[in-house]
Amino acid sequence: MNEPTEPTEPTESAERSDEILAELRALRQADAPTHGGHVLSYVYDSGLPELDELAAEAIRIMQPVNGLDPTTFPSVAALERDLVAFARRMLHGESSADGEVVGSVTSGGTESCLLAVKTARDVWRETHDTSVDSPRLLAPVTVHAAFHKAAHYFGLELDLVPVDAGGRVDTAELTSRFGDDVALVVVSAPSYPYATLDPVVDVAAAASVAGIACHVDACIGGWVLPWWGEELPAWDFAVPGVTSISADLHKFGYGPKGASVLLQRGRDRQRHQYFATKRWPGYPVVNPTMLGSKSAGALAAAWAITRRLGDGGFAELSASCRQSTDALVQLVGEIDGLRVVGSPVGPLFAVAADETAQPERRVDPHHLADRMRQLGWLLQQQPGLVQSNGVRLAHTTHLTITPVTESVLARLSVALVQAADDVRGVPAVDPAGLLGALPPVELDSGPLGSAEALGSAEAAGVLAGLGIGSAEDALPEQMAPLLALIEALPAPITERLLIELLARLVEPEVPSTG
Ligand SMILES: *Cc1c(COP(=O)(O)O)cnc(C)c1O
Repeated sequence: MNEPTEPTEPTESAERSDEILAELRALRQADAPTHGGHVLSYVYDSGLPELDELAAEAIRIMQPVNGLDPTTFPSVAALERDLVAFARRMLHGESSADGEVVGSVTSGGTESCLLAVKTARDVWRETHDTSVDSPRLLAPVTVHAAFHKAAHYFGLELDLVPVDAGGRVDTAELTSRFGDDVALVVVSAPSYPYATLDPVVDVAAAASVAGIACHVDACIGGWVLPWWGEELPAWDFAVPGVTSISADLHKFGYGPKGASVLLQRGRDRQRHQYFATKRWPGYPVVNPTMLGSKSAGALAAAWAITRRLGDGGFAELSASCRQSTDALVQLVGEIDGLRVVGSPVGPLFAVAADETAQPERRVDPHHLADRMRQLGWLLQQQPGLVQSNGVRLAHTTHLTITPVTESVLARLSVALVQAADDVRGVPAVDPAGLLGALPPVELDSGPLGSAEALGSAEAAGVLAGLGIGSAEDALPEQMAPLLALIEALPAPITERLLIELLARLVEPEVPSTG
Protein backbone atom coordinates (compact mmCIF):
# COMPACT_ATOMS: atom_id res chain seq x y z
CA MET A 1 0.00 0.00 0.00
CA ASN A 2 1.05 3.59 -0.52
CA GLU A 3 1.75 5.87 2.42
CA PRO A 4 -1.30 7.76 3.69
CA THR A 5 -1.47 11.16 2.01
CA GLU A 6 -2.71 14.52 3.21
CA PRO A 7 -6.48 15.08 2.96
CA THR A 8 -7.21 16.12 -0.61
CA GLU A 9 -9.51 18.57 -2.33
CA PRO A 10 -12.58 17.05 -4.08
CA THR A 11 -11.07 17.48 -7.54
CA GLU A 12 -7.81 15.97 -6.40
CA SER A 13 -9.65 13.02 -4.92
CA ALA A 14 -11.43 12.48 -8.24
CA GLU A 15 -8.01 12.32 -9.84
CA ARG A 16 -6.92 9.92 -7.15
CA SER A 17 -9.87 7.67 -8.04
CA ASP A 18 -8.80 7.76 -11.68
CA GLU A 19 -5.30 6.74 -10.68
CA ILE A 20 -6.62 3.85 -8.61
CA LEU A 21 -8.80 2.65 -11.44
CA ALA A 22 -5.87 2.93 -13.82
CA GLU A 23 -3.92 0.72 -11.44
CA LEU A 24 -6.76 -1.79 -11.47
CA ARG A 25 -6.88 -1.77 -15.27
CA ALA A 26 -3.16 -2.33 -15.37
CA LEU A 27 -3.50 -5.36 -13.11
CA ARG A 28 -6.22 -6.73 -15.37
CA GLN A 29 -3.75 -6.69 -18.28
CA ALA A 30 -2.16 -9.84 -16.88
CA ASP A 31 -5.47 -11.74 -16.96
CA ALA A 32 -6.62 -14.18 -19.60
CA PRO A 33 -8.96 -12.43 -22.05
CA THR A 34 -12.56 -12.80 -20.79
CA HIS A 35 -14.04 -11.92 -24.16
CA GLY A 36 -13.43 -12.89 -27.74
CA GLY A 37 -13.58 -16.66 -27.53
CA HIS A 38 -9.89 -17.43 -27.02
CA VAL A 39 -10.41 -18.93 -23.55
CA LEU A 40 -12.39 -22.15 -23.80
CA SER A 41 -13.27 -22.61 -20.12
CA TYR A 42 -14.01 -20.38 -17.13
CA VAL A 43 -15.77 -17.68 -19.16
CA TYR A 44 -19.09 -17.83 -20.98
CA ASP A 45 -19.18 -15.07 -23.53
CA SER A 46 -22.54 -14.46 -25.18
CA GLY A 47 -20.78 -12.36 -27.78
CA LEU A 48 -23.34 -9.63 -27.07
CA PRO A 49 -21.69 -6.53 -25.51
CA GLU A 50 -25.12 -5.08 -24.72
CA LEU A 51 -25.69 -7.92 -22.22
CA ASP A 52 -22.49 -7.00 -20.39
CA GLU A 53 -23.59 -3.36 -20.27
CA LEU A 54 -27.00 -4.35 -18.95
CA ALA A 55 -25.42 -6.57 -16.30
CA ALA A 56 -23.00 -3.84 -15.23
CA GLU A 57 -25.81 -1.33 -14.81
CA ALA A 58 -27.93 -3.85 -12.87
CA ILE A 59 -25.01 -4.52 -10.51
CA ARG A 60 -24.53 -0.80 -10.00
CA ILE A 61 -28.19 -0.31 -9.08
CA MET A 62 -28.03 -3.15 -6.53
CA GLN A 63 -24.54 -2.39 -5.27
CA PRO A 64 -25.43 -1.08 -1.78
CA VAL A 65 -28.14 -3.66 -1.08
CA ASN A 66 -27.65 -6.50 1.40
CA GLY A 67 -29.15 -9.70 0.02
CA LEU A 68 -29.20 -11.10 3.55
CA ASP A 69 -32.64 -9.77 4.30
CA PRO A 70 -35.39 -9.68 1.66
CA THR A 71 -37.82 -8.25 4.21
CA THR A 72 -35.69 -5.10 4.45
CA PHE A 73 -34.84 -5.21 0.73
CA PRO A 74 -37.93 -6.62 -1.01
CA SER A 75 -36.30 -6.11 -4.41
CA VAL A 76 -34.11 -9.10 -3.63
CA ALA A 77 -37.12 -11.36 -3.13
CA ALA A 78 -38.78 -10.03 -6.29
CA LEU A 79 -35.73 -10.76 -8.45
CA GLU A 80 -35.29 -14.20 -6.95
CA ARG A 81 -38.97 -15.08 -7.47
CA ASP A 82 -38.71 -14.12 -11.14
CA LEU A 83 -35.55 -16.15 -11.71
CA VAL A 84 -36.85 -19.21 -9.89
CA ALA A 85 -40.07 -19.00 -11.92
CA PHE A 86 -38.10 -18.80 -15.18
CA ALA A 87 -35.88 -21.73 -14.22
CA ARG A 88 -38.82 -23.81 -13.03
CA ARG A 89 -40.63 -23.37 -16.33
CA MET A 90 -37.44 -24.07 -18.26
CA LEU A 91 -36.87 -27.31 -16.31
CA HIS A 92 -40.48 -28.59 -16.53
CA GLY A 93 -41.11 -28.09 -12.84
CA GLU A 94 -44.29 -26.05 -13.18
CA SER A 95 -46.82 -28.83 -13.02
CA SER A 96 -45.05 -31.34 -10.88
CA ALA A 97 -47.39 -34.10 -9.69
CA ASP A 98 -45.29 -35.15 -6.72
CA GLY A 99 -44.74 -31.85 -4.96
CA GLU A 100 -44.30 -28.23 -5.89
CA VAL A 101 -40.88 -27.24 -7.29
CA VAL A 102 -39.39 -24.34 -5.32
CA GLY A 103 -35.92 -22.91 -5.25
CA SER A 104 -33.23 -20.40 -4.43
CA VAL A 105 -30.66 -18.33 -6.20
CA THR A 106 -27.20 -19.17 -4.82
CA SER A 107 -23.73 -17.73 -5.33
CA GLY A 108 -22.73 -20.35 -7.88
CA GLY A 109 -22.65 -23.98 -8.88
CA THR A 110 -20.62 -25.11 -5.93
CA GLU A 111 -23.05 -23.55 -3.46
CA SER A 112 -26.03 -25.08 -5.30
CA CYS A 113 -24.37 -28.51 -5.14
CA LEU A 114 -23.38 -28.08 -1.48
CA LEU A 115 -26.93 -27.16 -0.56
CA ALA A 116 -28.43 -30.05 -2.53
CA VAL A 117 -26.23 -32.41 -0.51
CA LYS A 118 -26.90 -30.71 2.82
CA THR A 119 -30.65 -30.86 2.16
CA ALA A 120 -30.52 -34.55 1.23
CA ARG A 121 -28.39 -35.36 4.26
CA ASP A 122 -30.78 -33.61 6.64
CA VAL A 123 -33.85 -35.26 5.07
CA TRP A 124 -32.04 -38.61 5.29
CA ARG A 125 -31.15 -38.06 8.95
CA GLU A 126 -34.77 -37.34 9.77
CA THR A 127 -35.99 -40.58 8.26
CA HIS A 128 -33.14 -43.03 8.82
CA ASP A 129 -31.13 -44.84 11.44
CA THR A 130 -28.79 -42.15 12.67
CA SER A 131 -26.44 -44.67 14.23
CA VAL A 132 -24.94 -44.93 10.73
CA ASP A 133 -21.81 -42.79 11.00
CA SER A 134 -21.90 -41.16 7.64
CA PRO A 135 -24.49 -41.69 4.92
CA ARG A 136 -23.27 -42.26 1.37
CA LEU A 137 -23.30 -39.89 -1.57
CA LEU A 138 -23.43 -42.08 -4.68
CA ALA A 139 -22.41 -40.85 -8.15
CA PRO A 140 -20.49 -41.70 -11.32
CA VAL A 141 -16.78 -40.87 -11.01
CA THR A 142 -17.34 -38.01 -13.49
CA VAL A 143 -19.48 -36.08 -10.97
CA HIS A 144 -18.19 -32.56 -10.38
CA ALA A 145 -15.58 -32.00 -7.66
CA ALA A 146 -18.13 -29.79 -5.88
CA PHE A 147 -19.67 -33.04 -4.61
CA HIS A 148 -16.32 -34.16 -3.22
CA LYS A 149 -16.29 -30.88 -1.38
CA ALA A 150 -19.88 -31.35 -0.21
CA ALA A 151 -19.15 -34.85 1.11
CA HIS A 152 -16.10 -33.46 2.91
CA TYR A 153 -17.93 -30.49 4.41
CA PHE A 154 -21.08 -32.32 5.43
CA GLY A 155 -19.67 -35.66 6.54
CA LEU A 156 -20.87 -38.02 3.81
CA GLU A 157 -18.97 -40.92 2.37
CA LEU A 158 -18.38 -40.48 -1.34
CA ASP A 159 -19.13 -43.66 -3.28
CA LEU A 160 -17.93 -43.21 -6.86
CA VAL A 161 -18.95 -45.61 -9.60
CA PRO A 162 -16.45 -46.18 -12.44
CA VAL A 163 -17.36 -45.15 -15.99
CA ASP A 164 -16.23 -46.61 -19.32
CA ALA A 165 -13.73 -44.97 -21.67
CA GLY A 166 -16.57 -42.91 -23.15
CA GLY A 167 -17.54 -41.54 -19.73
CA ARG A 168 -20.71 -43.66 -19.47
CA VAL A 169 -21.80 -45.19 -16.21
CA ASP A 170 -23.55 -48.55 -16.12
CA THR A 171 -26.99 -47.93 -14.61
CA ALA A 172 -27.20 -51.42 -13.11
CA GLU A 173 -23.81 -51.05 -11.46
CA LEU A 174 -24.85 -47.70 -10.01
CA THR A 175 -28.23 -48.83 -8.73
CA SER A 176 -26.77 -52.08 -7.33
CA ARG A 177 -25.06 -49.84 -4.77
CA PHE A 178 -28.34 -48.43 -3.52
CA GLY A 179 -28.97 -49.03 0.16
CA ASP A 180 -30.52 -47.60 3.26
CA ASP A 181 -27.42 -45.56 3.95
CA VAL A 182 -27.50 -43.69 0.63
CA ALA A 183 -28.66 -40.12 1.27
CA LEU A 184 -28.31 -38.92 -2.32
CA VAL A 185 -27.50 -40.13 -5.80
CA VAL A 186 -26.15 -37.52 -8.21
CA VAL A 187 -26.21 -37.64 -12.00
CA SER A 188 -25.10 -34.94 -14.41
CA ALA A 189 -26.71 -33.23 -17.40
CA PRO A 190 -24.07 -33.25 -18.70
CA SER A 191 -20.88 -34.05 -16.76
CA TYR A 192 -18.11 -31.47 -16.86
CA PRO A 193 -15.11 -33.67 -17.80
CA TYR A 194 -16.58 -35.33 -20.94
CA ALA A 195 -20.07 -33.81 -21.38
CA THR A 196 -21.72 -37.17 -20.74
CA LEU A 197 -25.48 -37.02 -20.28
CA ASP A 198 -25.97 -39.53 -17.47
CA PRO A 199 -28.94 -41.98 -17.57
CA VAL A 200 -31.21 -39.69 -15.54
CA VAL A 201 -34.52 -41.48 -16.31
CA ASP A 202 -33.34 -44.92 -15.21
CA VAL A 203 -31.39 -43.76 -12.20
CA ALA A 204 -34.16 -41.48 -10.93
CA ALA A 205 -36.78 -44.22 -11.38
CA ALA A 206 -34.72 -46.71 -9.40
CA ALA A 207 -33.91 -44.08 -6.77
CA SER A 208 -37.58 -43.26 -6.38
CA VAL A 209 -38.44 -46.93 -5.77
CA ALA A 210 -35.60 -47.18 -3.24
CA GLY A 211 -36.68 -43.96 -1.50
CA ILE A 212 -33.40 -42.23 -2.34
CA ALA A 213 -33.14 -38.56 -3.33
CA CYS A 214 -31.77 -37.89 -6.82
CA HIS A 215 -29.97 -34.69 -7.76
CA VAL A 216 -29.37 -33.72 -11.38
CA ASP A 217 -26.30 -31.54 -11.67
CA ALA A 218 -27.17 -29.33 -14.62
CA CYS A 219 -24.79 -26.58 -13.51
CA ILE A 220 -23.30 -26.40 -16.99
CA GLY A 221 -26.19 -27.75 -19.08
CA GLY A 222 -29.15 -26.21 -17.28
CA TRP A 223 -29.34 -22.98 -19.22
CA VAL A 224 -28.48 -24.38 -22.66
CA LEU A 225 -29.84 -27.93 -23.04
CA PRO A 226 -33.49 -26.77 -22.88
CA TRP A 227 -32.88 -25.09 -26.26
CA TRP A 228 -30.43 -27.64 -27.70
CA GLY A 229 -32.68 -28.23 -30.69
CA GLU A 230 -32.67 -32.00 -30.46
CA GLU A 231 -34.82 -34.56 -28.68
CA LEU A 232 -32.60 -35.46 -25.76
CA PRO A 233 -33.47 -38.17 -23.26
CA ALA A 234 -35.42 -36.45 -20.45
CA TRP A 235 -33.20 -35.17 -17.64
CA ASP A 236 -35.15 -32.48 -15.77
CA PHE A 237 -38.23 -32.32 -13.50
CA ALA A 238 -40.23 -34.06 -16.23
CA VAL A 239 -38.50 -37.18 -14.91
CA PRO A 240 -40.27 -38.66 -11.88
CA GLY A 241 -37.86 -39.23 -9.02
CA VAL A 242 -35.65 -36.22 -9.72
CA THR A 243 -35.69 -34.34 -6.41
CA SER A 244 -33.36 -31.41 -7.13
CA ILE A 245 -31.51 -29.68 -9.99
CA SER A 246 -28.67 -27.16 -10.03
CA ALA A 247 -28.27 -24.79 -13.02
CA ASP A 248 -25.67 -22.03 -13.15
CA LEU A 249 -26.68 -18.56 -14.23
CA HIS A 250 -23.03 -17.56 -14.44
CA LYS A 251 -22.40 -20.19 -17.12
CA PHE A 252 -24.91 -20.45 -19.96
CA GLY A 253 -27.20 -17.94 -18.25
CA TYR A 254 -24.42 -15.53 -19.40
CA GLY A 255 -24.48 -13.61 -16.10
CA PRO A 256 -21.41 -12.36 -14.26
CA LYS A 257 -19.93 -14.74 -11.70
CA GLY A 258 -21.90 -15.31 -8.51
CA ALA A 259 -25.27 -16.76 -9.53
CA SER A 260 -26.83 -20.20 -9.87
CA VAL A 261 -30.24 -21.67 -9.13
CA LEU A 262 -31.02 -24.69 -7.01
CA LEU A 263 -34.53 -26.05 -7.50
CA GLN A 264 -36.00 -28.69 -5.22
CA ARG A 265 -39.13 -30.79 -5.60
CA GLY A 266 -41.36 -30.55 -2.55
CA ARG A 267 -41.64 -27.63 -0.16
CA ASP A 268 -41.06 -29.79 2.88
CA ARG A 269 -37.84 -31.26 1.55
CA GLN A 270 -36.60 -27.84 0.42
CA ARG A 271 -37.09 -26.36 3.89
CA HIS A 272 -34.22 -28.60 5.04
CA GLN A 273 -31.98 -26.40 2.92
CA TYR A 274 -32.55 -23.50 5.30
CA PHE A 275 -30.75 -22.58 8.46
CA ALA A 276 -32.46 -20.61 11.20
CA THR A 277 -31.52 -19.72 14.74
CA LYS A 278 -32.71 -17.39 17.45
CA ARG A 279 -30.25 -18.71 20.02
CA TRP A 280 -27.98 -15.73 20.28
CA PRO A 281 -28.50 -12.19 21.51
CA GLY A 282 -28.48 -10.71 18.00
CA TYR A 283 -31.07 -10.55 15.24
CA PRO A 284 -33.02 -13.76 14.48
CA VAL A 285 -31.19 -15.50 11.64
CA VAL A 286 -32.81 -17.29 8.73
CA ASN A 287 -30.75 -18.11 5.64
CA PRO A 288 -31.83 -20.20 2.66
CA THR A 289 -28.21 -20.34 1.43
CA MET A 290 -24.76 -20.54 2.97
CA LEU A 291 -23.76 -16.90 3.10
CA GLY A 292 -24.98 -14.26 5.53
CA SER A 293 -24.60 -10.74 4.24
CA LYS A 294 -24.31 -11.01 0.51
CA SER A 295 -24.28 -9.06 -2.69
CA ALA A 296 -27.44 -8.96 -4.78
CA GLY A 297 -25.41 -7.77 -7.77
CA ALA A 298 -25.02 -11.05 -9.63
CA LEU A 299 -28.66 -11.88 -8.88
CA ALA A 300 -29.80 -8.60 -10.43
CA ALA A 301 -27.49 -9.00 -13.41
CA ALA A 302 -28.71 -12.54 -14.10
CA TRP A 303 -32.29 -11.39 -13.70
CA ALA A 304 -31.79 -8.56 -16.19
CA ILE A 305 -30.10 -10.85 -18.71
CA THR A 306 -32.78 -13.54 -18.57
CA ARG A 307 -35.45 -10.83 -18.95
CA ARG A 308 -33.65 -9.40 -21.94
CA LEU A 309 -33.00 -12.75 -23.61
CA GLY A 310 -36.22 -14.58 -22.81
CA ASP A 311 -36.87 -17.93 -24.44
CA GLY A 312 -36.14 -16.59 -27.90
CA GLY A 313 -32.76 -15.15 -26.95
CA PHE A 314 -31.65 -18.30 -25.18
CA ALA A 315 -32.78 -20.37 -28.16
CA GLU A 316 -30.66 -18.28 -30.54
CA LEU A 317 -27.57 -18.37 -28.36
CA SER A 318 -27.98 -22.11 -27.79
CA ALA A 319 -28.29 -22.70 -31.54
CA SER A 320 -25.03 -20.84 -32.06
CA CYS A 321 -23.31 -22.98 -29.39
CA ARG A 322 -24.76 -26.06 -31.02
CA GLN A 323 -23.47 -25.23 -34.49
CA SER A 324 -19.98 -24.36 -33.29
CA THR A 325 -19.81 -27.48 -31.11
CA ASP A 326 -20.96 -29.77 -33.91
CA ALA A 327 -18.40 -28.23 -36.28
CA LEU A 328 -15.55 -28.60 -33.79
CA VAL A 329 -16.47 -32.13 -32.74
CA GLN A 330 -16.48 -33.11 -36.40
CA LEU A 331 -13.17 -31.33 -37.03
CA VAL A 332 -11.45 -32.98 -34.06
CA GLY A 333 -12.85 -36.36 -35.11
CA GLU A 334 -11.16 -35.89 -38.49
CA ILE A 335 -7.79 -34.84 -37.07
CA ASP A 336 -5.41 -37.77 -37.39
CA GLY A 337 -4.33 -39.10 -33.99
CA LEU A 338 -6.97 -37.30 -31.93
CA ARG A 339 -10.40 -38.41 -30.77
CA VAL A 340 -13.42 -36.90 -29.05
CA VAL A 341 -14.20 -38.67 -25.77
CA GLY A 342 -17.53 -40.53 -25.78
CA SER A 343 -20.70 -38.91 -27.08
CA PRO A 344 -20.77 -35.37 -25.71
CA VAL A 345 -24.13 -33.66 -25.17
CA GLY A 346 -24.15 -29.88 -24.91
CA PRO A 347 -21.61 -27.16 -25.71
CA LEU A 348 -18.52 -28.85 -24.33
CA PHE A 349 -16.35 -31.86 -25.08
CA ALA A 350 -13.02 -33.44 -24.28
CA VAL A 351 -10.33 -34.67 -26.66
CA ALA A 352 -7.91 -37.53 -26.06
CA ALA A 353 -5.15 -39.22 -28.01
CA ASP A 354 -6.45 -41.78 -30.47
CA GLU A 355 -4.94 -44.95 -29.01
CA THR A 356 -5.87 -46.91 -32.14
CA ALA A 357 -3.45 -44.79 -34.20
CA GLN A 358 0.25 -45.68 -34.52
CA PRO A 359 2.30 -43.92 -31.80
CA GLU A 360 3.93 -41.66 -34.39
CA ARG A 361 0.48 -40.50 -35.52
CA ARG A 362 -0.97 -39.88 -32.06
CA VAL A 363 -1.69 -36.39 -30.81
CA ASP A 364 -1.22 -36.03 -27.08
CA PRO A 365 -4.02 -33.75 -25.81
CA HIS A 366 -1.80 -31.97 -23.28
CA HIS A 367 0.93 -31.20 -25.80
CA LEU A 368 -1.88 -30.01 -28.05
CA ALA A 369 -3.15 -27.63 -25.37
CA ASP A 370 0.36 -26.33 -24.67
CA ARG A 371 0.84 -25.65 -28.38
CA MET A 372 -2.59 -24.03 -28.57
CA ARG A 373 -1.61 -21.70 -25.74
CA GLN A 374 1.41 -20.56 -27.75
CA LEU A 375 -0.97 -19.88 -30.63
CA GLY A 376 -3.20 -17.76 -28.37
CA TRP A 377 -5.91 -20.22 -27.33
CA LEU A 378 -6.48 -21.41 -23.77
CA LEU A 379 -7.79 -24.97 -23.48
CA GLN A 380 -8.20 -26.77 -20.17
CA GLN A 381 -5.97 -29.78 -19.47
CA GLN A 382 -7.52 -32.60 -17.45
CA PRO A 383 -5.25 -35.25 -15.90
CA GLY A 384 -6.01 -38.94 -16.32
CA LEU A 385 -7.54 -40.88 -13.45
CA VAL A 386 -7.19 -44.45 -12.28
CA GLN A 387 -10.64 -45.55 -11.09
CA SER A 388 -11.44 -47.85 -8.19
CA ASN A 389 -11.71 -50.81 -10.61
CA GLY A 390 -8.20 -50.14 -11.87
CA VAL A 391 -9.36 -48.83 -15.24
CA ARG A 392 -7.54 -45.63 -16.18
CA LEU A 393 -9.41 -42.77 -17.76
CA ALA A 394 -7.11 -41.11 -20.29
CA HIS A 395 -5.80 -37.60 -19.79
CA THR A 396 -7.77 -35.17 -21.90
CA THR A 397 -8.16 -31.56 -22.93
CA HIS A 398 -11.47 -29.83 -22.37
CA LEU A 399 -13.19 -27.24 -24.55
CA THR A 400 -16.29 -25.30 -23.57
CA ILE A 401 -17.99 -23.67 -26.53
CA THR A 402 -19.93 -20.42 -26.15
CA PRO A 403 -21.88 -18.20 -28.55
CA VAL A 404 -18.81 -16.07 -29.21
CA THR A 405 -17.03 -19.15 -30.60
CA GLU A 406 -19.01 -18.68 -33.81
CA SER A 407 -17.10 -15.47 -34.54
CA VAL A 408 -13.70 -17.21 -34.25
CA LEU A 409 -14.66 -20.66 -35.49
CA ALA A 410 -12.55 -20.55 -38.65
CA ARG A 411 -9.43 -19.33 -36.83
CA LEU A 412 -9.92 -21.80 -33.98
CA SER A 413 -10.25 -24.65 -36.46
CA VAL A 414 -7.07 -23.65 -38.29
CA ALA A 415 -5.22 -23.41 -34.96
CA LEU A 416 -6.40 -26.86 -33.83
CA VAL A 417 -5.25 -28.46 -37.07
CA GLN A 418 -1.91 -26.67 -36.92
CA ALA A 419 -1.30 -27.46 -33.25
CA ALA A 420 -2.11 -31.12 -33.88
CA ASP A 421 0.34 -31.17 -36.82
CA ASP A 422 3.00 -29.56 -34.65
CA VAL A 423 2.81 -32.08 -31.80
CA ARG A 424 1.78 -35.24 -33.66
CA GLY A 425 3.98 -38.14 -32.60
CA VAL A 426 5.40 -36.38 -29.54
CA PRO A 427 4.89 -38.98 -26.82
CA ALA A 428 2.91 -38.16 -23.70
CA VAL A 429 5.09 -36.97 -20.81
CA ASP A 430 6.43 -39.94 -18.87
CA PRO A 431 5.92 -39.05 -15.21
CA ALA A 432 8.56 -41.57 -14.08
CA GLY A 433 11.35 -39.27 -15.21
CA LEU A 434 9.76 -36.32 -13.47
CA LEU A 435 9.30 -38.16 -10.21
CA GLY A 436 13.02 -38.88 -10.27
CA ALA A 437 13.67 -35.18 -10.73
CA LEU A 438 11.76 -34.28 -7.59
CA PRO A 439 13.77 -32.88 -4.67
CA PRO A 440 15.57 -35.59 -2.72
CA VAL A 441 12.62 -36.80 -0.67
CA GLU A 442 11.37 -40.32 -0.51
CA LEU A 443 7.91 -40.77 -1.99
CA ASP A 444 6.68 -43.47 0.33
CA SER A 445 8.46 -42.45 3.49
CA GLY A 446 9.67 -39.16 4.86
CA PRO A 447 7.91 -35.85 4.41
CA LEU A 448 6.41 -36.58 0.99
CA GLY A 449 4.99 -39.88 2.20
CA SER A 450 2.63 -38.19 4.57
CA ALA A 451 0.83 -35.22 3.17
CA GLU A 452 -0.27 -34.05 6.61
CA ALA A 453 3.35 -33.94 7.75
CA LEU A 454 4.36 -31.80 4.79
CA GLY A 455 4.93 -28.35 6.24
CA SER A 456 4.33 -25.32 4.09
CA ALA A 457 8.06 -24.61 3.79
CA GLU A 458 8.72 -28.16 2.63
CA ALA A 459 5.80 -28.03 0.21
CA ALA A 460 7.10 -24.76 -1.18
CA GLY A 461 10.51 -26.39 -1.52
CA VAL A 462 9.07 -29.19 -3.60
CA LEU A 463 7.25 -26.67 -5.78
CA ALA A 464 10.41 -24.60 -6.22
CA GLY A 465 12.23 -27.79 -7.21
CA LEU A 466 9.62 -28.17 -9.92
CA GLY A 467 10.20 -24.60 -11.02
CA ILE A 468 6.80 -23.30 -10.00
CA GLY A 469 5.28 -21.14 -7.35
CA SER A 470 6.84 -17.69 -7.44
CA ALA A 471 4.23 -14.95 -7.46
CA GLU A 472 5.21 -13.43 -10.82
CA ASP A 473 5.54 -16.72 -12.64
CA ALA A 474 3.31 -19.20 -10.88
CA LEU A 475 3.12 -21.76 -13.68
CA PRO A 476 5.58 -23.06 -16.27
CA GLU A 477 5.21 -22.46 -20.03
CA GLN A 478 4.63 -26.12 -20.72
CA MET A 479 1.87 -27.51 -18.55
CA ALA A 480 1.98 -31.09 -19.84
CA PRO A 481 4.77 -32.18 -17.44
CA LEU A 482 2.98 -30.61 -14.48
CA LEU A 483 -0.26 -32.38 -15.42
CA ALA A 484 1.61 -35.69 -15.75
CA LEU A 485 3.04 -35.15 -12.28
CA ILE A 486 -0.37 -34.31 -10.86
CA GLU A 487 -1.66 -37.57 -12.28
CA ALA A 488 1.29 -39.65 -11.05
CA LEU A 489 1.72 -38.34 -7.50
CA PRO A 490 -0.48 -39.73 -4.74
CA ALA A 491 -3.61 -37.61 -4.30
CA PRO A 492 -2.92 -36.36 -0.74
CA ILE A 493 0.52 -35.08 -1.75
CA THR A 494 -0.70 -33.43 -4.94
CA GLU A 495 -3.54 -31.80 -3.05
CA ARG A 496 -1.13 -30.51 -0.41
CA LEU A 497 1.12 -29.04 -3.11
CA LEU A 498 -1.84 -27.41 -4.87
CA ILE A 499 -2.89 -25.81 -1.60
CA GLU A 500 0.61 -24.45 -1.08
CA LEU A 501 0.77 -23.13 -4.63
CA LEU A 502 -2.49 -21.23 -4.35
CA ALA A 503 -1.95 -20.04 -0.78
CA ARG A 504 1.39 -18.48 -1.65
CA LEU A 505 -0.14 -16.65 -4.61
CA VAL A 506 -2.11 -14.39 -2.28
CA GLU A 507 0.33 -14.11 0.60
CA PRO A 508 1.61 -10.52 0.73
CA GLU A 509 5.18 -11.55 1.42
CA VAL A 510 6.69 -14.91 0.58
CA PRO A 511 8.90 -15.58 3.56
CA SER A 512 12.34 -16.73 2.57
CA THR A 513 12.81 -20.38 3.35
CA GLY A 514 16.59 -20.41 2.94
C1 LIG B 1 -19.27 -25.51 -13.04
C2 LIG B 1 -19.86 -26.75 -12.52
C3 LIG B 1 -20.08 -26.94 -11.15
C4 LIG B 1 -19.56 -25.99 -10.08
O1 LIG B 1 -19.90 -24.72 -10.32
P1 LIG B 1 -19.10 -23.41 -9.92
O2 LIG B 1 -20.01 -22.38 -10.46
O3 LIG B 1 -17.77 -23.43 -10.58
O4 LIG B 1 -19.00 -23.36 -8.44
C5 LIG B 1 -20.75 -28.09 -10.77
N1 LIG B 1 -21.12 -29.00 -11.67
C6 LIG B 1 -20.89 -28.88 -12.99
C7 LIG B 1 -21.35 -29.94 -13.94
C8 LIG B 1 -20.25 -27.74 -13.46
O5 LIG B 1 -20.01 -27.60 -14.77
